[in-house]
Amino acid sequence: MINVTKPFLPPIEEYEKYLKGIWGRVWLTNNGPLVNELEMTLKEYLKVNHFLYLNNGTIAIQIAIKALGLKGEIITTPFSYVATTSSIVWEGCTPVFADIDPLTLNIDPTKIEAAITDKTSAILATHVYGNPCDIDAIAAIAQKHNLKVIYDAAHCFGTKYKGKSVFAYGDVTTASFHATKVFHTIEGGGVFTNDPELLKTMSLMRNFGHNGPDRFEGVGINGKNSEFHAAMGIVNLKWADKILESRRAQSERYDKKLSGLNVSRIKYDPNDFNYSYYPIIFETEAQTLKAIEKLHANWIYPRRYFYPSLNSLKYVNAVEMPVSESICKRVICLPLYYELANEEIDFVSGVLMTGNS
Ligand SMILES: *Cc1c(COP(=O)(O)O)cnc(C)c1O
Repeated sequence: MINVTKPFLPPIEEYEKYLKGIWGRVWLTNNGPLVNELEMTLKEYLKVNHFLYLNNGTIAIQIAIKALGLKGEIITTPFSYVATTSSIVWEGCTPVFADIDPLTLNIDPTKIEAAITDKTSAILATHVYGNPCDIDAIAAIAQKHNLKVIYDAAHCFGTKYKGKSVFAYGDVTTASFHATKVFHTIEGGGVFTNDPELLKTMSLMRNFGHNGPDRFEGVGINGKNSEFHAAMGIVNLKWADKILESRRAQSERYDKKLSGLNVSRIKYDPNDFNYSYYPIIFETEAQTLKAIEKLHANWIYPRRYFYPSLNSLKYVNAVEMPVSESICKRVICLPLYYELANEEIDFVSGVLMTGNS
């Protein structure tokens, strides 16, 4: 069986080393030394100013919305994982969708302006598949209309924009380090910001609002992560360069093997992209379903990522998003993970190419 993804696990000895330390200290969670070490090493690796390690990427989005004090409408993309939209609703705001660019599948800046009303407080955009949005255009719109910007960068470990880590942009950028992402800590996530005041607010929110053992400053939640998760991050970070390199090589192999296939690829800049997914877009939904069927018959499990378009969720206002809806029906992500062998890439490609002329 070849699944769309398989979590990376380092050699067990590398992780065990950290367990001895945890057993020695009996400090399991609550901003322990390994959480601090992971925050330091990640900031260094990514060359960003401020980062808070959290228990997942969804709490990261919710804390960002809360810390920025957002109210009313938040303009967002219909083409993302459900957590992007559900977090807006969870925080008592209204998602207002702006359709996507058909080439990058990221939110289309020209559609953002048309969606702005006097209730708009922010833009929440996803860098889809680890391919950065048009950050400059979004920043210009935000500045002109006095809006906050949050980026859901759940897919973006290793992604760059204009030579810098993509995590360095926006009022807040959020990350997910879930087991299925390029860099993971089993469960985990975080928030990045350049604003030290905002960092302080989010840091209080992460820990119930505790400001000292018996003082509370503002409403908080439990966004903390454990020493065990941080240890997995510290170990996996040592593998990150290798993982990113192999993703690129594997994607290039798919490119070669699938060059005759009648599908389109997303538009990306190889200098920025982290190759975290391998999406292919068919011309019709019928072709898409037929390809999935062929793959399933060979024990290959791609994923319709993303499906369905988020504007079709029952808890949002019904609107039409023609580009996103059309893409959702026609896109699949092929298997891509560290252990995926060249022969397996060739096999998956071969199955897709049969009967295709
Ligand atoms: C994975 C993902 C999330 C949620 O992250 P968790 O760490 O699983 O909570 C949010 N947005 C996008 C785009 C994702 O892919």
